Amino acid sequence: MTFAELANKGILTQPVYEPGKPIDQVARELGLDPAGIVKLASNENPFGPSPKAMAAAERAVREMNLYPDGGYYALRQKLAAKWSLGLDQFIIGDGSNELLELLGHAFLAPGVEGVMHQSSFIVYKLVTLMFGATPVEVPLVNMQQDLKSLAAAITPRTRLVFLASPSNPVGAVNSAAEITALVRGLPPHVILVLDEAYAEYLDEVFDLRPLIAEGRKVIGLRTFSKIYGLAALRVGYGYAAPELIAIVQRARQPFNVNGIAVAAAGAALDDHEFVEKCRRENAAGRTFLGDGFKRLGLAFVPGGGNFLLVKVGDGAAVFAALQSRGLITRPVKPYGLPEWLRITVGTRAQNERLLAALAEVIRV
Ligand SMILES: *Cc1c(COP(=O)(O)O)cnc(C)c1O
Repeated sequence: MTFAELANKGILTQPVYEPGKPIDQVARELGLDPAGIVKLASNENPFGPSPKAMAAAERAVREMNLYPDGGYYALRQKLAAKWSLGLDQFIIGDGSNELLELLGHAFLAPGVEGVMHQSSFIVYKLVTLMFGATPVEVPLVNMQQDLKSLAAAITPRTRLVFLASPSNPVGAVNSAAEITALVRGLPPHVILVLDEAYAEYLDEVFDLRPLIAEGRKVIGLRTFSKIYGLAALRVGYGYAAPELIAIVQRARQPFNVNGIAVAAAGAALDDHEFVEKCRRENAAGRTFLGDGFKRLGLAFVPGGGNFLLVKVGDGAAVFAALQSRGLITRPVKPYGLPEWLRITVGTRAQNERLLAALAEVIRV
């Protein structure tokens, strides 16, 4: 028997996740100086990590001979205070990606369905297939997420509905009214997973807590990878009703997140100055890039996160041309969007460089 024949079926159907190319790899491939390369491919924070988080991580390094607190009490307590929720309403994950997988462990299996939009974050489909469940994909309407269609795709076999607002890679944003109607209309056998990876960048953040308090079946997922600037550390959290959190906790390994990462995340939560600066700079940068796209006659999705999806024609060709100029962006053909590129909002200087290079590339 081959290894493939021995493997679980869900493993063999895994779509391949294509991460943004690391700077060093692009430098090697193209013979460029890594110092001159700008990566706007993975929605990383161009302003670095939160300084408070860096200091906390340095302190935590001195205790890395010790296991972390497996219950992550200190971080959950900070979160509970920040959100005015109970300690038992939080779970800490190795990035919010791990929380998506833990939800799969808890609720997905052969014969059940996970509902999501087309061109949504690939991990929803990956996790659904991993547990042998069936992904059901709902089309976008003019690059926006129609939550009535999402609700209409629910069947008696549906267990999880995945929704991101802002979505990635598209950047679609749904209103509080739309999300509330979706959650209130869910049948009792369905849980909504609301992925809020970019929520901190929104002008008006949707508040899930009233729906949790009403006893609705919903979990919010947040990450420290984006506005807090801690993508390398891998920390995220989920918040929901205590009963739901208790189930997902059962799927979690003890010590799933390393102690340095947890210490940094706790400090980052308190770094209001840094978060506020990133929010402000990102909003200005997003407008700046959008105005630049308009001048170039390029359509784009307005977006609410730290990136914009822009229609460039031949995504692969424009990606390659930008890359040869030292700018790494993200082609989104694997998401069924071959004409588009996703571009992370950078610093002012990076955004200027991107627009100048794009103008050259588009004209050719
Ligand atoms: C970046 C991102 C995440 C966060 O992933 P981490 O595992 O926390 O780094 C989750 N969902 C979406 C849609 C994202 O874009």
